[in-house]
Amino acid sequence: MRHVAVIGSGPAGFYTAEAALKAFGDGICIDLIDRLPVPYGLIRFGVAPDHQSIKAVSRRYEQVALTPHVRFVGNVSVGGDVSVPELLSLYDAVVLATGAPDDRPLDIPGSDLSGVVGSAAFVGWYNGHPDFADLAPPLAGPGAAVVGNGNVALDVARILSKTRAEFEGSDIAAHALEALEASRIARVTLLGRRGPHQIAMTPKELGELGHLERAQPRVDLADFPEPGADALLEPGMRKSVAHLRDFAAAPPVRKPVTIDFDFFAMPIAIEGDGRAERVIVERTRLDDELRSVPTGETYAVPASLVVTCIGYKTPPIEGVPYEHGRGRFANSDGRILPGLYCVGWARRGPTGTIGTNRPDGYQVAELIAADIDNDSGKGGPDGLDALLASRNVDVVAFRDWQRIEAAEAARARDGSPREKFVSIDEMIAASRT
Ligand code: NAP
Repeated sequence: MRHVAVIGSGPAGFYTAEAALKAFGDGICIDLIDRLPVPYGLIRFGVAPDHQSIKAVSRRYEQVALTPHVRFVGNVSVGGDVSVPELLSLYDAVVLATGAPDDRPLDIPGSDLSGVVGSAAFVGWYNGHPDFADLAPPLAGPGAAVVGNGNVALDVARILSKTRAEFEGSDIAAHALEALEASRIARVTLLGRRGPHQIAMTPKELGELGHLERAQPRVDLADFPEPGADALLEPGMRKSVAHLRDFAAAPPVRKPVTIDFDFFAMPIAIEGDGRAERVIVERTRLDDELRSVPTGETYAVPASLVVTCIGYKTPPIEGVPYEHGRGRFANSDGRILPGLYCVGWARRGPTGTIGTNRPDGYQVAELIAADIDNDSGKGGPDGLDALLASRNVDVVAFRDWQRIEAAEAARARDGSPREKFVSIDEMIAASRT
């Protein structure tokens, strides 16, 4: 029997477990260890609450978790309750699938002012992540700035602009729904340091902005290259740019919220008296390699809330080689050290869709199959249980999570799939009922 520990129960962790089961059949035991008492990582806490169809993939992960030889070991912190060297002494392979849950910092003057939040915190807040449930972002308006031109920036702009009715069927946390309903933000400015042809937004997500009940996207036609240039774009980007051109061509309508796309706009400072009041933006142009170059011309965007959506990084774990520049574990195609692997965003950095993690999982399973022998005699799950019991760790198993899940469904608003518990204590209490 081979013993494998997968650290992190988000998409990368589950696809790795699925692939390892296919590769080894009954000859493997997999422990999926998560620091939270609840599984699914990015699916639960990253994917937008109004994108329930994407979240539905958790049903597939559930099938994996219910397979004999797979255990969910929740509420266990690797690097805290148990160390990586301890896991390596217990398991034949340890796979770090810890994602990239930390914000890359926007390193400009004023970025430490109150009212400036990273997307991990803001997204975690509306998705009921226990680390960010108390964030209380300032929503008094009238301006908000969203830094970045990726899909997370789009998620944030859309969530800031929706009506309560538009959240029907979502699992947005109740505290966020109430705060957003009382929001007085009337202008959301998306700051992109490059142009419409350099966005990292996908067509479906961009198209949604054109159908919001009380908000209208505004784009300046002057920011585009001549229309013929669109034909040279790859098809997905061409569709996204077509949406932007539609927004630019749409006649103004009287809606209470505008979502302004400011292209060639690089934030260089955030100013305010003890809290964010405005973002100072420098206009840019593109150089021959399509990098943004400052022009010296600046303007101010009034904003009492600034959400930076400029990418994520993997938190380092003591003793695990780390690539600081890229914010991920130092690895060679997924191998870190003998017996230690990484997968998903912890391996590649924060790019790609949920599905991109599937081939990653299968690839790491192949590495493990090539590297480890059958029956090394290591302690595996029994050894871990003994270690955690000796440290009084309150482990949450999958059946405990199913109780949490049932309790969240039972207390959901009408039409919503669940009302998440937003503190670890509440989760643990529900798991014991
Ligand atoms: P992203 O796609 O990498 O976009 C990051 C954006 O931040 C880029 O526009 C980048 O501009 C900008 N940026 C980086 N550093 C900056 C700085 N110092 N100042 C100003 N702008 C800066 O990252 P993301 O939006 O966090 O998304 C992460 C991944 O999750 C992506 O693969 C995304 O597609 C995926 N995702 C998918 C969905 C969905 O499918 N519905 C939803 C959310 C996220 P440059 O291009 O100039 O570097």
